Amino acid sequence: VVTFTNVIKRYPKVEKPVLDGVSLSVPRGKVTVVLGPSGSGKSTLLRTVAGLEDIQGGTISLDGNVIASEKMTGARRSQEIRTRIGMVFQSYDLFPHKTVLGNVMMSPILVQKRKKEEVREEALQLLDRVGLQDRANAKPHELSGGQRQRVAIARSLIMHPDVMLFDEVTAALDPEMVHEVLNVIVELADLGMTMMIVTHEMEFARAVADHIVLLEDGGIVEESYDSEAFFTHPETERAQQFLRTFE
Ligand code: ATP
Ligand code: MG
Repeated sequence: VVTFTNVIKRYPKVEKPVLDGVSLSVPRGKVTVVLGPSGSGKSTLLRTVAGLEDIQGGTISLDGNVIASEKMTGARRSQEIRTRIGMVFQSYDLFPHKTVLGNVMMSPILVQKRKKEEVREEALQLLDRVGLQDRANAKPHELSGGQRQRVAIARSLIMHPDVMLFDEVTAALDPEMVHEVLNVIVELADLGMTMMIVTHEMEFARAVADHIVLLEDGGIVEESYDSEAFFTHPETERAQQFLRTFE
């Protein structure tokens, strides 16, 4: 569903491209997990899909339509992308003065001009799905980190995205809250949501991935459609080394 073709991303004043000709297919209804050491380009890769970074070469397509290329920049891109791609980050970016329900209801009303009553009903259903039906009227600061991340997920889902992107969504959480967030993602996978996930939780990656991509220095060093095989006997020396750092 998402296709990267020779994607090149440079940051101004950085000589080496941060994505150096990445070609990759993210299949519909599957979970693609992107692994790699710090600085390898994982966040940049997701941000290019989400329309948060322009690219300097190659193309990114969604269902065959080009959503990013050297020529397509800025505002023109984000229009197209805003409703079709959902992204959740490491830090919770909820609006502090709005309730949980208000946060979830906001985009459909403002961006899609949907009717408030219908949006409220769907928002409550989604809060139920992420286990927060009883916190609808709480403010973000009254929630735990794990609860806030689940609100952020509900807020993305209400836009009915074609793809969900997760960038280390549990990295800032206390260990006891990691599970509740990962469980929501596993349930989305079971429902057939197309996802790209960056994570350092190797057990989770192994369990949820249909497709594994190992990035290093802005290039793919190993790719596998057999998660079990990747984790038990990776093909490249580099992947073996990478996995050993988690033992
Ligand atoms: P981490 O695991 O630490 O989150 P990452 O794989 O997500 O790392 P990126 O954040 O994509 O890595 O960064 C890739 C490279 O791009 C790094 O070398 C980083 O320093 C550089 N970089 C990221 N953002 C910028 C920016 N805005 N300007 C210049 N260089 C940047
Ligand atoms: Mg990152």
